[in-house]
Amino acid sequence: MRLEEAGYAGKLLKVLRDRGIEVYDRIRVVKNGFLYEGVLMPKPELSHPSCIILKLDNGYNVGISITSETKIELVAKGRPAKPELPPVPLKIREDLPEVVIIGTGGTIASRVDYKTGAVYPALTARDLYNIVPELSDIARLKMDVLFNIFSEDMTPKRWEAIARTVAKYVEEGVAGVVITHGTDTMGYTAAALSFALQDLPIPVVLVGAQRSSDRPSSDAALNLISAVKIAAQSPIAEVVVVMHGETGDTYCLVHRGTKVRKCHTSRRDAFRSINARPLAKVYKDRIVMLTSSYRRRDPNRQLKLEAKFDEKVQLIKTFPGIDPEIIDFLVDKGYHGIVLEGTGLGHAPEYILPSIKRAIEEGVAVVMTSQCLWGRINMNVYRRGVELLKMGVIPGEDMLPETALVKLMWVLAHTRDLKEVRRLMLTNIAGEINPRTEPLSYPPMEV
Ligand code: GLU
Repeated sequence: MRLEEAGYAGKLLKVLRDRGIEVYDRIRVVKNGFLYEGVLMPKPELSHPSCIILKLDNGYNVGISITSETKIELVAKGRPAKPELPPVPLKIREDLPEVVIIGTGGTIASRVDYKTGAVYPALTARDLYNIVPELSDIARLKMDVLFNIFSEDMTPKRWEAIARTVAKYVEEGVAGVVITHGTDTMGYTAAALSFALQDLPIPVVLVGAQRSSDRPSSDAALNLISAVKIAAQSPIAEVVVVMHGETGDTYCLVHRGTKVRKCHTSRRDAFRSINARPLAKVYKDRIVMLTSSYRRRDPNRQLKLEAKFDEKVQLIKTFPGIDPEIIDFLVDKGYHGIVLEGTGLGHAPEYILPSIKRAIEEGVAVVMTSQCLWGRINMNVYRRGVELLKMGVIPGEDMLPETALVKLMWVLAHTRDLKEVRRLMLTNIAGEINPRTEPLSYPPMEV
């Protein structure tokens, strides 16, 4: 790739040319007393004109602004391409259960081009066996790449598409389904599928990776092996998320789809069950169940697909100074539901109460959750809670705010009758409400 094609222009282009530097060359940069060495990468479209992108040896890409004071020199031409992995002789074992992998994006099921550092989705089951050969001892895989997006670009329409695809494979009789997904919004998709796929006969497992597979610290392989293991062998017939359980490479945790949140931006063990125990631990050689309350696998159970979501629902966090007009705006715009992420046991400032009252009077369903995350809503303790309850605010029990949002979208796609909406929101449909608060270890991660 020529420097111009890689986005380098103007003064910077000249500086690089003068030193005989091309894209993918190894270079050394000294700036403000710091030395950086790595491979010169193509520039993202929106990066600053004076900025170079360097892939460091630890796999991270850094942007460095080149000024007249920056020293920059060529270390070696090109980056030796890592030899392609030899194709694993495919010995598909017919005795193994069949698992379908539905690709939606994210870094998990991706293949890295070692020359460019670019990440491509693994498109075939063979690609997957190449990346993680252990998979061929767990299941007969087939691969269906539905889309390839960052999960921040997920939408309720795409949840519906995923649910329909899962239903198709359930109908075909696979033993389990694995969905590869970006980690950012995996919890939302897990909740959405938990409601959309009623009476699941088999496990549906969402899996992602916090570190891409070109990094030595990647969690992709263990996560994928564990996810396929759960899909192929576990007794669970629910929508679950399988991700690293701790920072090492020993086990993954299986989280119920309605109770899981990404709690850390970068740690491998970022996913935690909130207000619930994880369902199981998965080691390379075994599955250890952590609870007996889960729906059991039963291939004869008939799946009911209810994959519609009402998009006229919003999630609003209350805070000191929140402008009540935000609620008025939603009512005026014809929204059907609002989930409030209130404070503490389920409170909101007094001055926004008239707006909440008006919303409910105009037929908008208002559900209260807590920004505390841990614990459950109890609106009978303080006067404010009682006032909100009296107005008709629906208490969200111990639901995660995002699960309450997804559930309200799903409920409103069935009914707009506020009485029925209340009944459904207070009914435990997919493990999203724990009737009793379990004594759980808190905080969830070691300090
Ligand atoms: N933001 C990306 C996503 O959630 C990160 C990549 C990843 O988590 O796989 O899709």
